[in-house]
Amino acid sequence: MIEQLLKDKRLRLTSFRKEVLQVFMDNDKAIAVSDIEDALNDFDRITLYRTIKSFIEKGLIHEIVMPGDVKKLALCPTECHHEAGAHEHSHVHFQCKKCKEIFCVDVPALPKISLPNYQIDEIEIQAHGFCAGCR
Ligand SMILES: [Zn+2]
Ligand SMILES: [Zn+2]
Ligand SMILES: [Zn+2]
Repeated sequence: MIEQLLKDKRLRLTSFRKEVLQVFMDNDKAIAVSDIEDALNDFDRITLYRTIKSFIEKGLIHEIVMPGDVKKLALCPTECHHEAGAHEHSHVHFQCKKCKEIFCVDVPALPKISLPNYQIDEIEIQAHGFCAGCR
């Protein structure tokens, strides 16, 4: 599964990449860089940052920036190819007001929005409320 993902995104298989990707697979919520660091036993910080950067560039993961400068990372849906420099997602970023966790929630179709005089590459929808565990 993990090896196939890396292959599909034309990323060379390294045990470190597999390890980092596994951390994302183990979480159903968006995670911070510090969460990845906590999950890895032994790592080089520069290599970790490079790995994250290449994952983002290849459309394997994406960065989520929420109000308050909260930055998290999450796996991309498989249809995200990130070819035109933009991630293709049909999901909403939901942040729970209580536990503050952020989840990527799939929606069948995002509303089509067009802005005169502006070219839209990506649309991100953020939602806030309470997750199943905090409701
Ligand atoms: Zn993506
Ligand atoms: Zn919650
Ligand atoms: Zn997402």
